[in-house]
Amino acid sequence: MLIIIIVLILAVFCGAILVLHQVATNDQIKEAKEEAEEAVRMQEEEEAREQAKLDRIAEEKSQWYLLLVNEWNAMPDDFDIELDEVEGGYEVDARVKDAMKEMLSDCRDAGYSPQIISSFRTRSTQQWLYDHTANKSDTAIPGHSEHECGLAADIIDSSSAGWSDPLIDAQEDLPAQKWLMEHCQDYGFILRYPKDKEDVTGIIYEPWHYRYVGKEHAANIMSNGICLEEYLRDMSNYYDPQ
Ligand SMILES: [Zn+2]
Repeated sequence: MLIIIIVLILAVFCGAILVLHQVATNDQIKEAKEEAEEAVRMQEEEEAREQAKLDRIAEEKSQWYLLLVNEWNAMPDDFDIELDEVEGGYEVDARVKDAMKEMLSDCRDAGYSPQIISSFRTRSTQQWLYDHTANKSDTAIPGHSEHECGLAADIIDSSSAGWSDPLIDAQEDLPAQKWLMEHCQDYGFILRYPKDKEDVTGIIYEPWHYRYVGKEHAANIMSNGICLEEYLRDMSNYYDPQ
C-alpha cells in the first residue's frame, strides 16, 4: 500500500514537472517568436526610413536650384526662365536676384569692389562666344553653359577690369574675390568650378564663376571641398533631408 502511494506521489510529481517544463518551453518559443517579429518589424521600419530619405533626396535633386548643366548634361528644353536685373544690365533668374544683390552689397560693405562681367546668356550669345573663342575647350558648347540657366554669374574684382583678360587664375588673389570665395555659401552660391576638379566638371578652374544652389546645399558643397557633380552623385553622404 505504502509503495503504491509512493509511486503515485512520484507519478504526480513527475507529471507536474513535465507540465511546468512544457509551459516554460512554450513561453520561450513565444518569446523567441516575438523577438523575431520585432526584429523584422524594426528592419522594415529602417528600410522604409531609408527609402523615404532616398525619395526626398530624389525630389530635392529635381528642384530648379540643383539643375546640373555641364558637358554631359544639356539645358532642359522646357527650363522656364523669368529674368530680373541684378545691376548694370546684368540679369539672372528672378529667384536668385535678391541673393546675388545681397552678396554683392555685403562684399562692398566689407570694403571690396566686386563687379559682374557676365550673367545670363541667351543661347545665341553662347553660340557667338563659342564661335569666336580661340580655345574651344575654355567655352561651353551652346546648350551646355550654366550661364544659359540664369543661375550663375562671373564676378571679378573691379581692379582687374582693365586687364586684357581678367578671367585668369590670378583673380583668386584679389581681395573681392577672396571675400566672395569665403562667403558665397552664406548667400546660397558656390564657386562652381574649383581647382583640381576639371576632370569632374569638364571646366577649367574658374575663381570668378558663382552658381546658386541654395544656402544648405552651398554650405554642404563648399565645406566638403567638392563640386556640384560630386555632390549630386553621392548626395546622401552630404545631405540629410529633414
Ligand atoms: Zn562663367
